[in-house]
Amino acid sequence: MYGRYGNDQLNNFVIILSLAFCITSMFFTGYVRLIFTTLQFIAVIYWFARAFSRNHQQRRRENYGFLKLWNKVKGFFKSIPAFFKRLADRKHKYFKCPNCKSRLRVPRKRGKITVTCPRCYVRFDKKS
Ligand SMILES: [Zn+2]
Repeated sequence: MYGRYGNDQLNNFVIILSLAFCITSMFFTGYVRLIFTTLQFIAVIYWFARAFSRNHQQRRRENYGFLKLWNKVKGFFKSIPAFFKRLADRKHKYFKCPNCKSRLRVPRKRGKITVTCPRCYVRFDKKS
């Protein structure tokens, strides 16, 4: 393995994906099974090609792109419980600061109020 790229997060994802294709193919027969088996085969070949590659810079760039996308997906799923918590909270109103985009919470039914962002100290009017 000297000089070879080895394993990273994208390769871990690819091998888990190929395992998922393998397990999924067990539930089907005929062409669908063939498709999943082919996808599994392609994933394994891709894993080997990346793990044994000597072009470290390109592999690192691919991994960086993957991690950027993966963190977005992870962030979306992590934000779901907070979203429902905000939805259930009838005593406060939530909005984003127009300057720094941080999420702010103010009490409801106070009419027009001037809000000061605790993060960037920008003041703006909002109806609560
Ligand atoms: Zn702000």
